[in-house]
Amino acid sequence: MRVVSIPMRTRFRGVTVREAVLLPGAAGWGEWSPFLEYSALVAEPWLRCAEEAAAGDWPEPVRDAVPVNVTVPAVGPEQAHTIVTRGGCRTAKVKVAAPGQTLADDEARLEAVRDALGPDGRVRVDANGGWSVDDAVAAIAVLDRAAGGLEYVEQPSPSVEDLAAVRRRVSVPIAADESIRRAEDPYRVRDLAAADIAVLKVQPLGGVRACLRIAEEIALPVVVSSALETSVGIAAGVALAAALPELPYACGLATVQLLTDDVAVVPLLPVDGALPVTRPVVDEAALERVAASAERVGWWQARYDEVSALRQDRRS
Ligand SMILES: [Mg+2]
Repeated sequence: MRVVSIPMRTRFRGVTVREAVLLPGAAGWGEWSPFLEYSALVAEPWLRCAEEAAAGDWPEPVRDAVPVNVTVPAVGPEQAHTIVTRGGCRTAKVKVAAPGQTLADDEARLEAVRDALGPDGRVRVDANGGWSVDDAVAAIAVLDRAAGGLEYVEQPSPSVEDLAAVRRRVSVPIAADESIRRAEDPYRVRDLAAADIAVLKVQPLGGVRACLRIAEEIALPVVVSSALETSVGIAAGVALAAALPELPYACGLATVQLLTDDVAVVPLLPVDGALPVTRPVVDEAALERVAASAERVGWWQARYDEVSALRQDRRS
């Protein structure tokens, strides 16, 4: 195994340095990068995803490019405008309801994003569960106007029950993200009619084939998102997005640019708002350049041994 450690361009969900394990297999590398605080039990499906990738056990793609969104953090309107213009994507995902900000801040950011995208672009917002149900209902009306129409609202409130409550009171579609972290969660979202769209991430849900099965069973449109992987991990998300029978929304897979470096010869970055459906070639020089310290390699080896043993137990 190879362990890499790559600083983020900006802090993201409390992470400033992204660590990942690359596992070799018959088809190339698989990425295993559960966040550091996750238990062995939570990190186990992430390992299944890496093993599936390394074995090359992915379904046949039905498309050769995957449209992606540019992500706009909770920045001021001028910066938001610049990010969207530079991003070159036709869809923007805008962070809202950030701590310490007002609805007026979100409104100004959305107006700037619409201006940068033009009338044909799509705008979605992600509240990361930052609103109460009542606040969400009020805010969504204001932001839908500011954006000149919202494609959907991602995780307006924290719980699945809250999502269902918000969804009953607004006409803008609702997407579930944080409410889907374990394999059983998407079914709960479906059963409570909590969302119109499911955000699926291949590592936490146990791989490409597992996600494809979930998508089929829940019968909701899927937006494939990343867990801040290197290009190797992103390729698994792309494999899922490429294999889904329908892909009505741009995916949240343009996140390699959030890292200061990468492991691929050609990083999986969007070209004309889409990612190519391809397995990136890993660059040996890059693996050296971003290699983790001996101490971190030891930590990951011990974690791998623990999760791997758990995986064997669950198989038998
Ligand atoms: Mg989200």
